Amino acid sequence: MTEIIDGNAVASDIRAEITDCVETLQDSGVTPGLATVLMSDDPASETYVSMKQQDCEEVGINGIHVEIDPDAPAEELFETIDRLNDDPEVHGILVQLPVPDHVDKRAVIRAIDPAKDVDGFHPENVGRLVAGDARFKPCTPHGVQKLLEAYEVDTEGADAVVVGRSDIVGKPLANLFIQKAPQGNATTTICHSRTDDLEAKTKTADIVVAAAGVPEFIDGSMLKEGATVIDVGVNRVDADTEKGYELVGDVDYESAEAVAGAITPVPGGVGPMTRAMLLYNTVAAASEQHDIDIEL
Ligand code: NDP
Repeated sequence: MTEIIDGNAVASDIRAEITDCVETLQDSGVTPGLATVLMSDDPASETYVSMKQQDCEEVGINGIHVEIDPDAPAEELFETIDRLNDDPEVHGILVQLPVPDHVDKRAVIRAIDPAKDVDGFHPENVGRLVAGDARFKPCTPHGVQKLLEAYEVDTEGADAVVVGRSDIVGKPLANLFIQKAPQGNATTTICHSRTDDLEAKTKTADIVVAAAGVPEFIDGSMLKEGATVIDVGVNRVDADTEKGYELVGDVDYESAEAVAGAITPVPGGVGPMTRAMLLYNTVAAASEQHDIDIEL
């Protein structure tokens, strides 16, 4: 029987733990604060930010939201980041990406105080992760690790294939998989759009993580019997629904489920974990900044 990895259930347990941590911090006079900054009128970005704010409210994190006109000069965004860096009530800062073309994304990431960089994208935090001394693990890769842990998928000595090499998913996840640490110690192959014969790689893998943003392109014929399949992809495809589209992953679920030992659905797999791990990092940031021990 294929095990369906229920991201909603695991995320809900993590959120309960986070709620307890928030209470512990509040007992010491600290309410964790997360600032979200939106410089975009893209409806998807607006939705992501409002979901993050709603998540904060549910666990007792103080959500602060700043909106900047997408046509405003870049300086306005940098001034906002400086102000939030200096604000002692803000423990985590998230600038919703993408930013407009006239704003240098890398400069934005570098402008955030690394101690408040709850996305884990600042070069200092990337370096710490690679060095095996992570301060904040980026939310999606961390969420994938937590899912594997919850379902007792052993990464130790496993052959893992990560399809996708983005800075936010593929690269950091592969880096976590190769760490000498729990949910690490995997022999890891990173694949991308120039990979020759992708199927030859995925077919021998014990764990396949699909993070390419290509709808349903990994199917059951590309998988080893009993493999664990983690589908990070979220793709809108035209469909005969009220909204005119549906969300599908990078994995062809039906054929993959017939072969896999365990698999995440889309939606309800990695997505809720990404959201939960942002709250986790915010609470961790507050704990570090105030030197208060919490059990995360
Ligand atoms: P990017 O577009 O930044 O990266 C995609 C990666 O996939 C690139 O490295 C690209 O290769 C590779 N790729 C593209 N096509 C192929 C192919 N045919 N075969 C092999 N590799 C390929 O995407 P992200 O990492 O930001 O996101 C990936 C997916 O995950 C998207 O669907 C996104 O919506 C989703 N996502 C979901 C999250 C969640 O919480 N569930 C969170 C973040 C992302 P190359 O480098 O050569 O271009």
